[in-house]
Amino acid sequence: MIADIIDKELLQDLDELLVTSRNIVITCHLSPDGDAMGSSLGLRRALWRMGKKAKVITPDTPPKYLTFLPGADEIVIYSRSEAYARKLLSNADLLFCLDYNEPKRIDHVEEAMMASPAKKVMIDHHLHPASFPDVLISHPEESSTCALVYKVLIALGLSDCIDELCAECLYTGMMTDTGNFSYNSNNPDLYETVADLIRRGINKDEIYRKVYFSNSLNRLRLNGYAILNNLTVYPDHRGALITLTRKELNEFHYQKGDTEDLVNRPLTMPDIVYSVFMREEEGYVKISTRSKGNFPVNLMCKENFNGGGHLNAAGGEFFGTMEQAISTLIEIMPKYDRYLPSADN
Ligand code: 5GP
Ligand code: MN
Repeated sequence: MIADIIDKELLQDLDELLVTSRNIVITCHLSPDGDAMGSSLGLRRALWRMGKKAKVITPDTPPKYLTFLPGADEIVIYSRSEAYARKLLSNADLLFCLDYNEPKRIDHVEEAMMASPAKKVMIDHHLHPASFPDVLISHPEESSTCALVYKVLIALGLSDCIDELCAECLYTGMMTDTGNFSYNSNNPDLYETVADLIRRGINKDEIYRKVYFSNSLNRLRLNGYAILNNLTVYPDHRGALITLTRKELNEFHYQKGDTEDLVNRPLTMPDIVYSVFMREEEGYVKISTRSKGNFPVNLMCKENFNGGGHLNAAGGEFFGTMEQAISTLIEIMPKYDRYLPSADN
């Protein structure tokens, strides 16, 4: 039996909003990942089964490897269709914020989203949610927003609305936010949910292949190049760094999503406790971090890189050159030594 974690009053408020709403919009964060896309499209599908039409707005173009998701072809991409997206937001009476905890995470959509007269419902698993939503369903202990959306739908009595297409979306985010069930994944509820989604018709092995067997030759070579030439290990601090400059990215015809898993690779070395990936963007450096155990990469990102996130997966932005970003990291590394486990584990 899946743990009954969602506050009854919040469920009732959400239920009432669902009954009365006519124009529903679902939003998710910039650079949508499997969990952002999966939860948005999964909820959209479940609402459709309820007889409610909802539009999904993403701030920017989703990565190609997620375009197989049911409904992905109907997403409204704000950066491409701004006028239409703004109209949807200003006409909405119910707006979902999925897989993000603060308006900043939707970047250039923030102003139009906050200005929307719609009632706002946040369903999310990041720490420290903002207070603007009318209904806030925040569960940082959940490994993905998709797993949380599943629990919300079940708790609302909408089990019948989770059909195979909805299940495919929800499974995708559960899989990607746990690295195919390799971290944040030791909760039995997860596998009861997976079992249920399989019974609803998904083929989990096929979803795995669609998401992870999506390399292009350029992507494969770019990742190989980065590991061969640009990986530095700092044994004293049990940290690793991979960098890619704009020039290097261009050489391999970088497409969004091409470096998605790169930050995880150094963690496959037993002695490495945390890994940092720096990708040069126009005018800033995008920082992506991962860690094992209790090492708080979210703190590292918050204190030094204008970011945040989860204990073991966080990110941020550094406004300066790649060289400055690297020297900042090297400078601050000793400050975080106190979070390292004892040397033998
Ligand atoms: P990724 O490394 O996959 O881009 O991001 C991992 C996690 O870090 C995200 O799920 C999000 O919680 C957090 N994150 C990434 N970039 C940022 C950022 O610029 N600001 C904040 N606050 N969090 C971020
Ligand atoms: Mn997520």
